Amino acid sequence: MTRDPRYDLLFEPMRIGPVTAKNRFYQVPHCTGSGYLRPHVLAGLRAMKAEGGWGVINTEYCSIHPSSDDTPHPMAALWDAGDVKAHALMTEAVHEHGALAGVELCHGGARMANLTTREVPLGPVSAPNLAGNPYQTRAMDKADIRAVRRWHRDAALRAREAGFDLVYVYATHGYLLSQFLNKELNRRTDEYGGSLENRLRLMREIIEDTKDAVGDRLAVAVRFSVETNGGGGGDGAPVPGETEDVFGLIGEAPDLWDLNVEDYSLEMGLSRFTDEGALEPYIAAVRGLTSKPVVTVGRYTSPDSMVRLVKSGAADFVGAARPSIADPFLPKKIEEGRLEDVRECIGCNICYTGDGKGAPIRCTQNPTMSEEWRLGWHPERLPAAAGDATVLIVGAGPAGLEAAQALGKRGYQVTLAEATRELGGRVAREARLPGLAAWARVRDHRLQQLDQLANVEIYRESPLSAEDVLAVGADHVAVATGARWRRDGFGPSALGGVAGLSAPAARILTPDDLMADEAPTIEGPVLIYDDDHYYMASVLAEKLATAGHDVALATPADRLSDWGAYTVDRWRAQRRLMDLGVTLLTAGALSGFDGERATLACAYTGRESAHAAGALVLVTTRAPVDALYHELAERRATGAAGAPKTLARIGDCDAPAVIAAAVYAGRRFAMDLEAPEPERARNRHDRIFAPSP
Ligand code: ADP
Ligand code: SF4
Repeated sequence: MTRDPRYDLLFEPMRIGPVTAKNRFYQVPHCTGSGYLRPHVLAGLRAMKAEGGWGVINTEYCSIHPSSDDTPHPMAALWDAGDVKAHALMTEAVHEHGALAGVELCHGGARMANLTTREVPLGPVSAPNLAGNPYQTRAMDKADIRAVRRWHRDAALRAREAGFDLVYVYATHGYLLSQFLNKELNRRTDEYGGSLENRLRLMREIIEDTKDAVGDRLAVAVRFSVETNGGGGGDGAPVPGETEDVFGLIGEAPDLWDLNVEDYSLEMGLSRFTDEGALEPYIAAVRGLTSKPVVTVGRYTSPDSMVRLVKSGAADFVGAARPSIADPFLPKKIEEGRLEDVRECIGCNICYTGDGKGAPIRCTQNPTMSEEWRLGWHPERLPAAAGDATVLIVGAGPAGLEAAQALGKRGYQVTLAEATRELGGRVAREARLPGLAAWARVRDHRLQQLDQLANVEIYRESPLSAEDVLAVGADHVAVATGARWRRDGFGPSALGGVAGLSAPAARILTPDDLMADEAPTIEGPVLIYDDDHYYMASVLAEKLATAGHDVALATPADRLSDWGAYTVDRWRAQRRLMDLGVTLLTAGALSGFDGERATLACAYTGRESAHAAGALVLVTTRAPVDALYHELAERRATGAAGAPKTLARIGDCDAPAVIAAAVYAGRRFAMDLEAPEPERARNRHDRIFAPSP
């Protein structure tokens, strides 16, 4: 197949200063949770994107000096010769596929507490630590400013040595240069503070230094956020404001502008809150202020939207972080006219949790992310089956669907049996909740792949018993029967369950009840109790409040959707519930519910408070649906006829977790099946290069 000529312009070579990108597909810098810690993992994942057709591939934020140490977040670093060697792994691998490699040089200033290096943090003024640590900065004096310029220049030279083609000056996201730009924070009275020209001075000097040091061979990009002028939620009118003056002063200084918006919850917007291309009006408003090429992001997975972006003139490059994570082969698939094979990002931000947790980046849609080197996994190519064994998979949720499609691609004879008429398990149910429609892409992509595999048979409305499984007589069986939300309040704040649940059963509900085809009757105010701390409780509160119920959301945590801080859910979720009039009750552990009143015990004093509620929704933990697995294990142990050679449980029926974990479990089962000694290959340990003393 060949590409649709409508998409030709996406494949035009594009000049960026002294270098040329082979096309307009530009992977902007994004966190990987690996940084300086896992150079081979990083080289593996970046190389995969280059193989998949991206024209430009960038690192994440890359510290220029030990005074910018973001512990515990694993940033990249270019401090010394060892770092040069580590980055060269990536640049070489990226170049092999004809892509350009870029590095996002960064000094974090007041966002860094320097917990490993114990350097005194630096800022334009004696600033508070902007990441919440009780470490203020030293107000940089002229010697500090000269030092930062020198460090940046030296890092740019090391970037050249490491083989990069493009180097960033990073002037947004609250790091040092944006601290200087910030008119509230930067109250300096010297030539680096006060007027915009002064606040821009360091940024301009660093752009000039970088051009002077490496600009003959490397392109110099600036990452910058335009104003949204929207206040809290950031969805205001695109009025350029001071941004216009910034471009007036330095609009022509870099070789490329990498533009986003001031509001991170819009830039990193979840599909629950923002659509594809949400930044476009803001970028379009400033595009005419520079003649240099512009790249911007917007979770673009549709080539039509990409073409629209370029044709509208708002940007020259289609920037992507998440779409390139969910599908490293997105450009290749467009080029080869295989749009139906694109694995579209669902906008869940599980990929962003890696940075917060200091763990390698993971993706709900792409289970091979960060496993390219560690496990040798390829997102598109799977090893052929060793023989002609048959496999039965029970349950068509994310785990079962992924296992079936991956085993199908390996060439196994696969039978997939699903109890209900609908395929997709939890993603099918959750996709009907407010804002979660994109969750269905997890199912739809896999069904699309299964459609092309004649060796996989799918049986709907087939709830299998152990007898049924034995009757099929497959060589290998994977049980992927999922999990159901619990009704007893068992959760991290109630390890023995909630004792005082004396209400009639019909008044105690779970998310499964609210997602069922037939909605339960709710009378009077409803209290949602969240001991899950992710998105489910807030989504259900939105659903019920929108339907006109009087809703309170209670959590034993100090804040709503606590874990949603890692996915950038939390802020917009809380704002939405406040806008909908949902009562938010924090730091209260559920102690009882009698059908009329729920009692909450203060997490600090234990003092109880009563809240009127005609219905209680328990969003705590899930119980694995694993009876079938145990019965089969028993039958195997007693040598029953038709018992499979191997039996596995995968996904939520093994251990309930995020959707990404179920997809990974499905892929891992498929990859390990009949593989020679899979354990030996697993958990390959990355090594850091240390320079010789
Ligand atoms: P996971 O996230 O691990 O994939 P899900 O809960 O999303 O789990 O999906 C599990 C699927 O398994 C559901 O669609 C459910 O209907 C199906 N299922 C559960 N028990 C059986 C069974 N005995 N036979 C066939 N399908 C089953
Ligand atoms: Fe998209 Fe979610 Fe994957 Fe991130 S984790 S790339 S948001 S599908």
